[in-house]
Amino acid sequence: MTKGIDLGRFPTVPLCHRPTPLEFLGNLTEYLGGPKIWIKRDDCTGLATGGNKARKLEFLMGDANAQSATCVITQGAVQSNHVRQTAAAAARMGLGCKALLERRVPQATHEYETSGNVALDRLMNVALEYLPSGADMNAEMERTADVLRQNGEKPYIIPGGGSNAIGALGYVSCAMELTSQVNNAGIVVDYIIHATGSAGTQAGLVAGLNALGSNIGVLGISVRATEEVQRASVLKLARQTTSLIGISTEVPDAAVQVDARFIGPGYGIPTSEIVDAISLVARLEGILLDPVYSGKGMAGFIGLIKEGRFSKDDNIVFLHTGGSSGLFGYVGALNLS
Ligand SMILES: *Cc1c(COP(=O)(O)O)cnc(C)c1O
Repeated sequence: MTKGIDLGRFPTVPLCHRPTPLEFLGNLTEYLGGPKIWIKRDDCTGLATGGNKARKLEFLMGDANAQSATCVITQGAVQSNHVRQTAAAAARMGLGCKALLERRVPQATHEYETSGNVALDRLMNVALEYLPSGADMNAEMERTADVLRQNGEKPYIIPGGGSNAIGALGYVSCAMELTSQVNNAGIVVDYIIHATGSAGTQAGLVAGLNALGSNIGVLGISVRATEEVQRASVLKLARQTTSLIGISTEVPDAAVQVDARFIGPGYGIPTSEIVDAISLVARLEGILLDPVYSGKGMAGFIGLIKEGRFSKDDNIVFLHTGGSSGLFGYVGALNLS
């Protein structure tokens, strides 16, 4: 099944609990009246409360090691799950970690700025620097790298969300893992649905499934960018990833599907649909989603079900990309305090 994709030649560091479980959500399926809803538990990857960045970091940290880095630099929004997981990976590897946090979300509360992922970042001893919304984060990472080099360090820059072709290999690997799980269980999956942001998750899945010749569709629920912008970034990265793994079958345009109708007022601002989706899944399944990504992804999925997009007997896999630590930065916004 997986012949043709050789990920073994890329350096990796073991950071992730794999395979993550694939579970059937019976209560949610019954409540919504179908389709059959499965969940791929990438919230259980195990890296300091888990999430999708762990898979990418196995490859990125492998590359950092191969380049003899002494520290890593990355960036994200203040409540970045990616920064938290990078901090954990760096801690485990004994590397320094510097993270630039963009104040991307307007009118942030004290809990947003200090609790949730930020508190965990501090616990893991990351050097944090806050920057204003709209800062050129890539240029800021280069500036930070220069300073560290002058101090004799060998910094390795990890892009926001870990989303370059090397990071996306983590989701090529996930596509292989999921395909073998569904084949073993005898399930014919129609779609994988998940929240898409910096694009590496969707790009890796699309590249992997395309390389495997799979018919499973991938639909990204955008958390920030318009459909056109998000489709273009996923497609570009999926093609770069395909060439990195040495596969000649080009990713067709139609393989990248994005729905940007559930963004609401903007990145990191929970809508009532998101709050409802988070509480529905918590109450029916005891599973924790988050207000920025997986809750928005689920709100989009439920929205599509209500529009009649799927038939009752379709098998849909919701990829739970993690993020529950972020709940603590949003206790007030979720009406939980
Ligand atoms: C980063 C993140 C995403 C989005 O994944 P990308 O690869 O950046 O598109 C989704 N969910 C959670 C919880 C995340 O932290």
